[in-house]
Amino acid sequence: MDLLLRNAKVFTPAGPVECDVAVKDGKVTKVAGDLQEQASKVIDLTGKYVFPGLVDGHTHMEFPFMGTVTADDFFHGTRAAVAGGVTTIVDFITPPKGSSLLEAYKTWRSNADPKVISDYGLHMIVREATPATLEEIPTLIGQGVVSFKLFMAYKGELMLTDGEIYRLTKKISENGGVVGVHAENGEVIDELVGEYLRQGKVEPVYHSYTRPEELEVEATNRVATIGSVLGKGVKMYIVHTSTGESVDVMSSYRRKGYKFFNETTPHYLVLNVDALRRPDGHRFVCSPPYRSDEQRTKLWHRLGSGEIFTVGSDHCVYSDQQKRRFKDTVPPFNEIPNGVPGTETILPILFHFGVRKGLISPETMVAVTSYNSARLYGLFPRKGTFSIGSDADFAVLDPNLTVKITPDVLHSNIDYTIYDGVTVTGWNVMTIRRGEVVFQEGQVIGSKGSGSYVPGSNPTV
Ligand SMILES: [Zn+2]
Repeated sequence: MDLLLRNAKVFTPAGPVECDVAVKDGKVTKVAGDLQEQASKVIDLTGKYVFPGLVDGHTHMEFPFMGTVTADDFFHGTRAAVAGGVTTIVDFITPPKGSSLLEAYKTWRSNADPKVISDYGLHMIVREATPATLEEIPTLIGQGVVSFKLFMAYKGELMLTDGEIYRLTKKISENGGVVGVHAENGEVIDELVGEYLRQGKVEPVYHSYTRPEELEVEATNRVATIGSVLGKGVKMYIVHTSTGESVDVMSSYRRKGYKFFNETTPHYLVLNVDALRRPDGHRFVCSPPYRSDEQRTKLWHRLGSGEIFTVGSDHCVYSDQQKRRFKDTVPPFNEIPNGVPGTETILPILFHFGVRKGLISPETMVAVTSYNSARLYGLFPRKGTFSIGSDADFAVLDPNLTVKITPDVLHSNIDYTIYDGVTVTGWNVMTIRRGEVVFQEGQVIGSKGSGSYVPGSNPTV
């Protein structure tokens, strides 16, 4: 054996398993109460909580958007990921307008392959529904890109019409893919942005006024309706859901037999709109915006009850200078690049604010951070499960370690965090990716380019 984990308490969606774990060639090969195997490396995990390596289904590394490119490339971004116990990211390919999806896939592979430390899969953002685009979808699915993201906002950049969404959803579904949707009513948002700017209301907090909850709920209803017209074979989820009502829309369809789901992110669970009123509020601008504490409560409730299917980070990092567009003063809210860091803090935020406070069970945390994500993105059972034959990917959490979050303890290519000063108990102290220790004692030791592309296949939801 290459690696033997002694006295591991591994949490699974069905409950914890106390065992020894043997690993050979990157895979879990034996699990038993007391293994007698010889191994080149033995790690005693007494007192630690072991989770299947997280599958962060929502990252934007080297993402060209709003006239700039995100500060975390695939090296810095996956360095942050593995430090947080994330062993697989699923990143969004963003093809330039008018370009071939297949070419964009090749570009993302050549950007990522030499740099990644975590393993990774890919989603495809589709920004037009031309015959050429539609024709490429089956080929992409054959390359392992089985999930596609469609936007109902960012008019002129990424937004699609309802007709285009219908056409793409049909094509993706016919070929066995999954449709992810950014659900906000982009037309009305643009009207509101214009109104606020004309009144001189340009501070970051007005970002949230121009993107009210109703516009997420309306868009969710609309896209679920479009999907339902195409039948129960459609697999669809709403990315970064920020309202309980959007979850309720998808749940109501699910009760009728549709495979409709929601993803949320940690920042909607723990931050509220006041973040945008801070002196550094520009750093917090993302879409959808943070909501009220009442909405946070609704999201925690729906996460705890299993109605929210996955938690991804929406890791989309811009430096403070990028957020300011390299000016001395903060630009109007609509010019601030949208996005916040998050892949490294999924586990501590969910564990401290969710599990420790009794809002979610550890089993639910495992389901939403690895098991469900791997199934939805077609990476299961290689990823997202603790089983014989699966990749030996683990996050090892010290449940009693208290850490004050500051930029110094994190690994992104920026000098701030949206959780600065927040103290959490429960911290990732070791990450194992395919049987190799890639993070321990605060240091990322996995080498650049050692991560692998994991092609998606049939989504099992
Ligand atoms: Zn995103």
